[in-house]
Amino acid sequence: MPTTSRWADPRADTPDAGSPAAGSTNSEDLDAVRERAQWLALAVAGSGTGIWDRNVVTGEIRYSAAWKAILGYTENELTDRIEDSYQRLHPDDLPYVQAAMQDHFEGRTESYEVEHRIRCKDGRYKWICSRGKVTSRDSAGRALRMVGTSTDITSIREMAEQLRETVDLITNLTDQVPGLVFQCSRGPDGRMAFPYVSAGISDIYELAPEAVARDATCIEALIHPDDLAAYRASFDESAASLASWHLEYRVCLPAQGLRWRLGDAKPQRLSEGATVWHGFITDITERKRIESELQELATTDGLTRLANRRHFMGCLEAHFAYLRRTNGLPAAILMFDLDHFKAINDRWGHAVGDEALRHFADILRMELRSVDMAGRLGGEEFAVLLTLADLDDARVVGQRIQRRLATQSLSCGQETIPLSVSIGVTQMRMDDVAAEAALSRSDQALYRAKKKGRNRIECV
Ligand code: GH3
Ligand code: MG
Ligand code: MG
Repeated sequence: MPTTSRWADPRADTPDAGSPAAGSTNSEDLDAVRERAQWLALAVAGSGTGIWDRNVVTGEIRYSAAWKAILGYTENELTDRIEDSYQRLHPDDLPYVQAAMQDHFEGRTESYEVEHRIRCKDGRYKWICSRGKVTSRDSAGRALRMVGTSTDITSIREMAEQLRETVDLITNLTDQVPGLVFQCSRGPDGRMAFPYVSAGISDIYELAPEAVARDATCIEALIHPDDLAAYRASFDESAASLASWHLEYRVCLPAQGLRWRLGDAKPQRLSEGATVWHGFITDITERKRIESELQELATTDGLTRLANRRHFMGCLEAHFAYLRRTNGLPAAILMFDLDHFKAINDRWGHAVGDEALRHFADILRMELRSVDMAGRLGGEEFAVLLTLADLDDARVVGQRIQRRLATQSLSCGQETIPLSVSIGVTQMRMDDVAAEAALSRSDQALYRAKKKGRNRIECV
């Protein structure tokens, strides 16, 4: 049976202009109360919320006009029976709505609050948030009356659903990107965190997203110790200048071991000195391996594994520039040419000649310190750069090399291959125009050693 709501029109509670006043003070108080009630009713109605009042004993339920309007009913529509209200509930929601109601009736919850769907007059369902509270109970605690509100949350649910779909889409996309897509934040205190990471974090850092969501210290523990300072400095610089973060660095991972990573991200300044980056990190281990192979190929001599001429000259020039900057620390150059090498080739063959070249390279490696550098300039000519060494030091090193070449002989079958080397020595001079000048001086000294009979050292 249709029923007229008590909340049909909030203004209905407003006293008639012509109604008799009980007394001026009481009448003013009453007016104030009514005005407040009117404002409250308007506010509730305007918020898309309706009110209901249920007699738990008789099963009667009354709705405000705003409640009915949410579902598209007029003030005079809808019965006041609770059974009918359950008919309008979405069948999937009915069990938990009734269970929540029962919990509250039986005092297991402070109040009743559920989100559920109700069928509108036009047959469509709306999402509703219902909240209520038992307002009176009998002496045995049984619920007698319950009052509550219903708010239309359909558009909020739709927005939440759209948001969820967008997040799902972004997550699915970023999870497909090889490597790690991330959002990284850094507070004014320098503390870093990765609030968003794609699934690639399990590969890039062998970590779970939760491990870095609030504090990224555990990532620093994985950075190669030699790269950690550069890793920190790169974020410092990017945060200070707001230039893109770009870094190649190594990580030491529990399962994968030593790997190379490349990071790229764009920073944005947040308020109060905080910075946030959006970017990605990829695995560049294979690229680095190929690069280093190419670098090795481009810089070393294939036969002896010493630096090739081009690389040796590059290092010599770089060291010359360094000496100029540091105001002329001493450095010496030794140039070597194996004596009568053509005869060795002629007598024992080219393969043995190659073996002799490798043998001499090994002797150089044995006699030099790690700070020195040896190169094969071509054929049976070699050169050495001795750092922090003067002519006397260089001469001593040259003599040691000659001695070892004489004593640690190379054999072919029963025969010993006679090997000796002539050496030209010079020092790098700050008035040289380039390192090349010092090298050609050592070449002149070498020429003199050859002329004076070979297997000797000449200095200029
Ligand atoms: P000198 O005492 O005057 O230096 O006499 P030499 O025979 O060593 O000088 P020369 O420059 O006439 O001969 C160098 C020889 O080194 C000629 C060349 O066949 C040989 N040679 C150059 N490169 C290689 C190489 O890669 N392998 C071998 N086996 N021999 C090489
Ligand atoms: Mg030669
Ligand atoms: Mg020679």
